[in-house]
Amino acid sequence: MANVNDILGPAVERSDAIAEIAVGNAILADAPAVLRRHFGDGPAMVVADENTFAAAGKAVVERLEAAGVDVATHILPARPRPKPTVELGRSIADALGDRTPISVGSGVLNDVTKYAAHSRDRAYLCIATAASMDGYSSAGAPLSDQGFKKTIPCRAPHAILADLDVIARAPAEMSGWGYGDLAGKVPAGGDWLIADALGIEPIDDVAWPLVQDNLAGWLSAPGAVKAGEPKALADLFVGLTLSGLAMEFHGTSRPASGADHQIAHMWEMEGLTLDGERVSHGACVSIGTLAALRLFDWLLDKDLTALPIDDVVAAAASIDTKRAEIASLMDGTLAERAIVETEAKHADPETHRARLHTLKETWPTLKERLASHLKRTAEMERLLREAGAPTTPREIGINPEHLRTTVHAARFIRSRYTILDLIEECGLFEAAISEALAAPAYVA
Ligand SMILES: [Zn+2]
Repeated sequence: MANVNDILGPAVERSDAIAEIAVGNAILADAPAVLRRHFGDGPAMVVADENTFAAAGKAVVERLEAAGVDVATHILPARPRPKPTVELGRSIADALGDRTPISVGSGVLNDVTKYAAHSRDRAYLCIATAASMDGYSSAGAPLSDQGFKKTIPCRAPHAILADLDVIARAPAEMSGWGYGDLAGKVPAGGDWLIADALGIEPIDDVAWPLVQDNLAGWLSAPGAVKAGEPKALADLFVGLTLSGLAMEFHGTSRPASGADHQIAHMWEMEGLTLDGERVSHGACVSIGTLAALRLFDWLLDKDLTALPIDDVVAAAASIDTKRAEIASLMDGTLAERAIVETEAKHADPETHRARLHTLKETWPTLKERLASHLKRTAEMERLLREAGAPTTPREIGINPEHLRTTVHAARFIRSRYTILDLIEECGLFEAAISEALAAPAYVA
C-alpha cells in the first residue's frame, strides 16, 4: 500500500481538518490506536446502521472495549436506508452526550455523523465501509433541509480508517456507485474549464491536479472495480478521497461537482426510489454524468465563433422569465433557493454580450481543451457499464421526459456556472436538450 500512502500523504499534510487517513488490509484492528492518537482517552459512540454494524461496527466496538474504551452504540435501521437529512443529523447530535463520534458506514452515515459532530463542535473518526462516494473526506455534508438538498459546510473527519477487506465485502453495486461518483469528475472538469475560459471562475492550481491528474488512471479498471480486486478498490478509494480533499482545499465543491451533480441532486431531492429503496447518490451521478457528456459531445460539434451575438442577447430570458420557469418546475423551499442561486449568476444584457464575445474569441482554444479533457459519451458508457454502474435513465427509474425536465430544472439550483448555463447563454438550450438527449437510450 506504499503507493496509496505516497499519493494521500502530501494531501493529508495540507489538510487543516484531517490528521490521518489509514488505508490498508486488516486495519480495523488499528481503530483503538487511531482513536487514542487523535481523540484521546474519552468515551466514544459508534454510529452505524444494522448493515454497517454487522460489516464492521461490531468488530470496532469489540476492539475498542478490549482496549478499555468506554464505547456506546447508536444503530439506525438498515431498511429503509437512512435518509441524508438535517433532522437525522440533529437526532445523532442529541444522542452524543460528551462522546467522540465514530461513523461506521458510507455516504449517508458519514454525512449525518459529520453534521452531528460539527454541530457539537467536535472532531470525529470516520470508518469507511464502501468505496461508494467521495464524501468521506469532504468539508461539507450534502443533506436535505426541509426538502432542499444543499452541501452544509462541516468539518471533515479528523481521521479516516479504510479497511480494504471490509470495503471488498460491501455489496458489489456500491463500488459501482463510487465509480459513478468519480466518473462525474470528468464532465465537472469540463464545466470548470468553461467557467475558467469565460473568466467566471478560474481553475485552481491545487484542487484541479488533485482530482484531474490521475482521474483517467483511477477510471481505467472498471472490471476490476466490479470484481472487488483490492488494488482497484484502493485506487477508487484514493480517487474519491482526494476529490473530497480537493473540495476542502478549494472551499467549495467546484473541483468535484458540476452539471452531473446538479442533475443527480434533483433526483435525490425528489426522493427518487426504485423497488422501494432510495436510489444512491453514485447511481444518480452516473446518469447525470452521461447526460452532461452527451451535451458536451453535442456542443463540441458546434461552431460557437459564428454565434449571432446581438440576436442571442436580444432573445435571452430575463430574470423574471427565469423566476416564472422556476415556479413552473419546482415549489416550496427548493423554488426559493433556486431563485436566489439563479439571481446570483444571471447575466444582465451587457455582461451577457461581453461574455459571448469572450466565448467567440476563446472557443477554438476552449474546444480543444474540452476535447482533450473529456471522454466521449460512448466510452464513458462502456466504462460505467463494466464497473456495474447504471448507464440508462430507465435503470434508475427515470423516463426520458423526466430526464429532460430534470435537466431544465438542474441549471437553476446552483449558482455554479456549468455547460447548462453556457448552452443557455448561447441560445441553444432547447436545441441541445431535444437533440443531445434524444439518443436511443433516452427514448422510452
Ligand atoms: Zn458526489
